[in-house]
Amino acid sequence: MQVIQHSVERLRTALVSNRPDLAERYTKFSREERRLLEEGLQPDSPLFFAITLHSDSDWITSHPEAPQDFQSFYSNPYRSTPIKGRNTVYIQTIGSFGDTEGVEGQYVEWLREYCEAFYFGLPVKLLDPLMVADTGCTFRINSISHNLQIHAGDLLHFLKKRKPKDAFCIVGITMIDLYPKDSWNFVFGQASLTEGVGVFSFARYDDNFYSRSYKGRLQKGKVLKPNDYSVFTGYYTPPITSTLLLRSCKTLTHEIGHIFGIKHCQWLQCVMQGSNHLEESDRRPLDLCPICLRKLHSVLGFRIAERYKALLQWMELDAAQHGAAVPMGDSAKPTQAFQSSWQWLQSKSHGTVQESGR
Ligand SMILES: [Zn+2]
Ligand SMILES: [Zn+2]
Repeated sequence: MQVIQHSVERLRTALVSNRPDLAERYTKFSREERRLLEEGLQPDSPLFFAITLHSDSDWITSHPEAPQDFQSFYSNPYRSTPIKGRNTVYIQTIGSFGDTEGVEGQYVEWLREYCEAFYFGLPVKLLDPLMVADTGCTFRINSISHNLQIHAGDLLHFLKKRKPKDAFCIVGITMIDLYPKDSWNFVFGQASLTEGVGVFSFARYDDNFYSRSYKGRLQKGKVLKPNDYSVFTGYYTPPITSTLLLRSCKTLTHEIGHIFGIKHCQWLQCVMQGSNHLEESDRRPLDLCPICLRKLHSVLGFRIAERYKALLQWMELDAAQHGAAVPMGDSAKPTQAFQSSWQWLQSKSHGTVQESGR
């Protein structure tokens, strides 16, 4: 296993910048906020860790590219920024979500609330759910895995037309697998960053997806009729589990991060790290490293401690863990898989007491 260990100086420059105006801007952070940002720079930080490479198929090994520091993010004239009147993040669900009645709406609402805490200060809204038939998109049966797949480019094109006028971006999510073109096996998602449109599938986040017993496999030899969307009625969707919720939260915030112009992180372990496979994306932490956090902060201008507090609240509200104060039941948010992120945020929030008392 290889460790990508940057020196403290290199990380500090990536965070603060050598450009005098950006370094000056950095001094405007309160002492407490600087503490929150800088505790990641030290190699012995208990909260931020160096990126580890586990195999040649990991993202950084297979996609060599220059790391994006705060300055290069800030100076990029082509990145999109939310502006007044065009700052809403829209989530559009396509097809059904969840195998239990009532859970579907709740799961998507949990995702919405999570994005609102993560992109603190931006409104995040759900568009009315759509069935696959409403999109008129091309679909197929994958010849290897025998599951249903929707054409990702068709969906992207469809979403572009639905993007509301006040949208910063529109993100389509679906439990149906996607494919980009006939010759490809599948794709996790596709996005047009300049147009603020993306579509992502959570189908392969099902723990059973790659097993022979996967319930989304159709009978061999089944033939689809073009434009007959009835095959999607009652089609298998992954059960809503804590792991699925965790993976969906990571994917959604990572992909929206790209729409802001944040590139794959190569500084510290971070939700913006690129990933080539599920094991690698599972390894990513849920939140941003300090360098990517400053990028987001420069766009949204939140108080850093308030954002951490909002994320912590999301994990605690209606959660199916964290003690007796929270009711357990069908409506409880399955946050068991968020345990390490919850502890991480708890450590972070020690600083919030002083921060709010300033
Ligand atoms: Zn990415
Ligand atoms: Zn990062």
